[in-house]
Amino acid sequence: MATARIPVPIRQTTEDLNPFRIAMRQFDTAAEKCGLDPGLREVLRRPRRALSLSLPVKMDDGSTRVFDGFRVQHNSARGPCKGGIRYHPDVTFDEVKALASWMTWKCAIVNIPFGGAKGGIVCDTHKMSKGELERLTRRYAYEISPIIGPDKDIPAPDVYTDSQIMAWIMDTYSMTHGSSAPGVVTGKPTFLGGSFGRNEATARGCLFVIRSACEVLGIKLNGATVAIEGFGNAGSIAAQLLAQNGATVIAVSDSQGGILNRAGLNVSELLAHKAKTGSVTGFHNSNPISSDALLELQCDILIPAALENQITLENVDRIQARIVAEAANGPTTPDADAVLHQKGGVMVIPDILANAGGVTVSYFEWVQDLQELFWDEDDVNRRLERVMVKAFSDVHSTAKKHNVDMRTGAYIVGIERVATAMSTRGIWP
Ligand code: NAD
Repeated sequence: MATARIPVPIRQTTEDLNPFRIAMRQFDTAAEKCGLDPGLREVLRRPRRALSLSLPVKMDDGSTRVFDGFRVQHNSARGPCKGGIRYHPDVTFDEVKALASWMTWKCAIVNIPFGGAKGGIVCDTHKMSKGELERLTRRYAYEISPIIGPDKDIPAPDVYTDSQIMAWIMDTYSMTHGSSAPGVVTGKPTFLGGSFGRNEATARGCLFVIRSACEVLGIKLNGATVAIEGFGNAGSIAAQLLAQNGATVIAVSDSQGGILNRAGLNVSELLAHKAKTGSVTGFHNSNPISSDALLELQCDILIPAALENQITLENVDRIQARIVAEAANGPTTPDADAVLHQKGGVMVIPDILANAGGVTVSYFEWVQDLQELFWDEDDVNRRLERVMVKAFSDVHSTAKKHNVDMRTGAYIVGIERVATAMSTRGIWP
């Protein structure tokens, strides 16, 4: 079967856009600032374990195709590894390594007892049947099953993976281990041990940190203007929650294109339009806008909620938002970050804080599965709010103390917590 590419904007920039080298650069900046021991620095720059797989799948037309798959475990000093699985034609081993390391810092910043991991398969879900996706997922789950498990490494959804895919992984693991193991993945359907509030958690966590940022900056969320790149799980639910909190969502985009209405888009109707047509494009009462132009709009809050490397040296001078809340992982390059920090007037809420609501409620799901005792949605949301507000405050005060940007502040919080765990446990043997 031919692989159709999902369009990803190629930014004209001279910067190194390799995600793993970007992650190491961000880590080095913070490690330097907090005077991390050189030995620990060497350990924490690299993933602990990185598995590369060839996954043969029988396709519907009778042919066999081999897909590349990865699972990377970056660090487990604070607990089992945790991280999503991404299905995308452009997935690379280095991208998965970067995402795994970001998970380590993210879990430490929200102070949950997990280390970082990530998985990925190079595939285009839009061009595969449900049966092909199930066979690919089960083969992948089987291949990684020796290194995953409720007390080892717990996968979750990421780009183009969902609760159905988590259910297949949970089933494959359970069938090959002889007992039902709901705690092996999170992001499951609620009737299979999933948590209420997990589907909305990334966006809700993002809302809580945006609210904290607004308080610090003296911006009223009620009436604030918002532009969102990406209209999937993170982006579309963020739009809904922000609109419910009085913000005006003026522009959104997805892989097909973007739309703009400066007076505000009706988000409920837009969700129905996307569900019906598969895209935000063509929505009534709006004008078309490119993803590039959306990033440069004058607005109070910009939420990149699609993929990496969207704000680079090439477009950073044209970013006009006062808050950039990174729902996506890795949307801003280190050079662009430095420009935004120097320029002032823009607060970047870094990915490892802004989208940590997802892993936080994944942790709640895992706790509920292990206890076999389930909480209602209000309970989940209240606990999430407490965690996110505290994490924002920890990062903000650390950034101020070290006179650094919010990303470096977030890294320092994460690195210090992981380094304390590692040095207290010691290097085995
Ligand atoms: P998703 O698959 O639900 O949605 C991705 C969205 O991005 C889709 O609307 C797609 O059309 C859009 N998109 C793709 N290419 C685009 C482009 N070139 N321009 C504009 N839009 C484009 O994925 P998601 O779960 O919402 O994840 C989005 C980002 O958030 C990723 O970086 C992911 O790692 C991060 N994230 C997600 C979660 C979660 O719980 N879902 C948690 C943490 C981080």
